[in-house]
Amino acid sequence: MIGIFGGTFDPIHFGHLRPAFEVYQALGLDELRLIPLNQAVHRAQPQASGEVRLRMLAAALAGQAGLVVDRRELDRAGPSRTLDTLLSLRAELGEQRPLCLLVGGDAFEHFADWHQPEQILRLAHLVVMRRPEAAAPSDPRVLAMLAERQTTESAALHQAPAGAICYQDVTQLAISATAIRASLARGQSPRYLLPDAVLEIIHLTGLYT
Ligand code: ATP
Repeated sequence: MIGIFGGTFDPIHFGHLRPAFEVYQALGLDELRLIPLNQAVHRAQPQASGEVRLRMLAAALAGQAGLVVDRRELDRAGPSRTLDTLLSLRAELGEQRPLCLLVGGDAFEHFADWHQPEQILRLAHLVVMRRPEAAAPSDPRVLAMLAERQTTESAALHQAPAGAICYQDVTQLAISATAIRASLARGQSPRYLLPDAVLEIIHLTGLYT
């Protein structure tokens, strides 16, 4: 079973890495692919170029078997839509291999407003990374999807290629890329919020200052 985790990763930090790694272990994934977006659809565009974000990701994941960078969104011009990414992955992996799309609890709250959510669930399972104290979603459309598709057994994800929704409790670290960029812009060091190898690339390239 393959997992994918998309984001801006501008830059990658421990708030991404630790929850993603916990899901990788808890679900027994063969591989977890981190996919940096090319053009954001609903948020500000990344400051760092795709190539530098890719280098930072590769540095962060170096030495950890099973966690890999996937550059397909950077290689596709225009806005990065999850549906296009899943279609491209299905073309590579075939129809039968279980595929899990990792999303944060905040993102899941708005899942019904994503581009073609039902189609996304035909292509992948949804694994919602939940922080311990998080409230349940309130959107009735999301609640209806949960009623129809939620499974509490992660083993069930291995038994179908797509279509289930599963919550996974993860350690929540209050780290954001925005705060890291702001601290660099103030001339302060964000050390210990992200891997040293990533910080080294930031210093070498003069990013975010
Ligand atoms: P920014 O501050 O620039 O918005 P970010 O770090 O919040 O960046 P992205 O790089 O776009 O966000 O994050 C990719 C995914 O990781 C998103 O789904 C987001 O919800 C999730 N994420 C980001 N930070 C954390 C965190 N501290 N804990 C858990 N999930 C996170």
